[in-house]
Amino acid sequence: MKFSNTYNQLDAVFFQPVAPTPVRQPELLLWNTSLANELNIAPELQNNSALLAQYFSGNQLPVGAEPIAQAYAGHQFGHFNPQLGDGRAHLLGELINNNGQRVDIALKGSGPTAFSRQGDGRCALGPAVREFIMSEAMAALGVPTTRCLAVVKTGELVFREQAKMGAVVTRIATSHLRVGTFQYFSAQGNLDALASLTEYAINRHYSEITSIGSQRIIDFLQAVIYKQITLVVAWSRVGFIHGVMNTDNTAISGETIDFGPCAMMNHYHLGTVFSSIDRNSRYAFGNQGRIAQWNMARLAEALLPLINEDQAQAVALVEPLIMKFSEQYQAAFYQMMANKLGCTDSNDAVKALVDQLLILMQEQALDYTNTFIALQLSLDDDTHANKLKTQLGDWYQAWRDYLVSSSTATDSASALMTRTNPLVIPRNHNVEAVLAQFEQQQTTDINEFLTILRDPYHALDSTAKYQLPPSDGDSHYRTFCGT
Ligand code: AMP
Ligand code: MG
Ligand code: MG
Repeated sequence: MKFSNTYNQLDAVFFQPVAPTPVRQPELLLWNTSLANELNIAPELQNNSALLAQYFSGNQLPVGAEPIAQAYAGHQFGHFNPQLGDGRAHLLGELINNNGQRVDIALKGSGPTAFSRQGDGRCALGPAVREFIMSEAMAALGVPTTRCLAVVKTGELVFREQAKMGAVVTRIATSHLRVGTFQYFSAQGNLDALASLTEYAINRHYSEITSIGSQRIIDFLQAVIYKQITLVVAWSRVGFIHGVMNTDNTAISGETIDFGPCAMMNHYHLGTVFSSIDRNSRYAFGNQGRIAQWNMARLAEALLPLINEDQAQAVALVEPLIMKFSEQYQAAFYQMMANKLGCTDSNDAVKALVDQLLILMQEQALDYTNTFIALQLSLDDDTHANKLKTQLGDWYQAWRDYLVSSSTATDSASALMTRTNPLVIPRNHNVEAVLAQFEQQQTTDINEFLTILRDPYHALDSTAKYQLPPSDGDSHYRTFCGT
């Protein structure tokens, strides 16, 4: 592993240099071989699970790693907290992957830092494994996401409501820059830091931006907005509910980050919420676009002093970008939904079909994932077609008629639907069943589950087993900010 540490070159106010706190008995539980290969981690190291356990628990630092905890702020459920930061994470450094892209290697659950406040700096095994499963599934689904390289058991207990086994999870991200990182310096009025952070972010993520001066900042904001739209539309495509879209959990890269209370939607409903702390449904499935817009408004606000000393003038420049968000989001959303229905463009007729279908699905509590699979199968299977006619009434024939009238060949509609609609998603009850096995120290099913999740658009031998919605519709399912 050839570490570099570009973030450490920034001013001292950006981070605290701090080493992970060693754990008693590190044991490698999950290792992500294909990701490790992308990171060019040498086979000799990959075969040495004892050494991997040392490195990815934080017990031993790989050569070149210079661990730091990053400073950031953030709006949590709408309330600004000027001082968050990595309270239980250590950024070891960066590696260049085999696409030539710089990625962060960070440990989570690796001990306290200056930002820990009341927390113990640790992570329980269940949430660590959950992050591994969910991020693997998201990556295979084609959703931009941070990923997990390893989960190491610590041999120590962490105390939550009860004593739990502890773990350290290794997260790979194209960076850990967040909206909250910008807010941190903006709130302090540290404009030098804010400017160098923005320059760092542009160089790392948006090097195509060549403008200068205030236009450079505006172009950066616009680029981040596009990434957020792409991200939330991708979540909508697969029925992902992030659950805690705070600005400290909004990555500038546009990757999904923080899988704490996330969940998957079974039956379609815009109001779907599983997070136990989201009492006002702020982060419900159907709110995610609006929240992304709100978060982008917070980024815009943080950037204002770099755009113009005169706040009113700066606002006048960024406001149109935030206002245009909804329109751009709607366009991307309908394009994605059109594809789910096998249509290449999202004209008014298709938009009407999408709207009507979603109303029907919500009214009848139809399974989101399985309905689109059934629609695809129905293109050349009368059993499915007849069942859908009963469920969806006239809508079904209207959709088929549209495909004919738009000269969409059944084959090409079917191929587009197969690419757009996953056969399997990491359903909450399947994930929980695997986690329960880990708690009981049996690890039998995870490999089968991961194999299926890593190939969500193809039917494998045991795919069918993971396509079933939960028998109770997850009506009692609750997620926690997973610590
Ligand atoms: P999250 O809810 O995961 O986005 O975390 C919000 C903040 O709480 C971040 O600053 C975390 O570093 C911090 N935090 C969460 N859990 C712990 C913990 N067990 N120990 C210390 N800090 C934590
Ligand atoms: Mg977080
Ligand atoms: Mg979290």
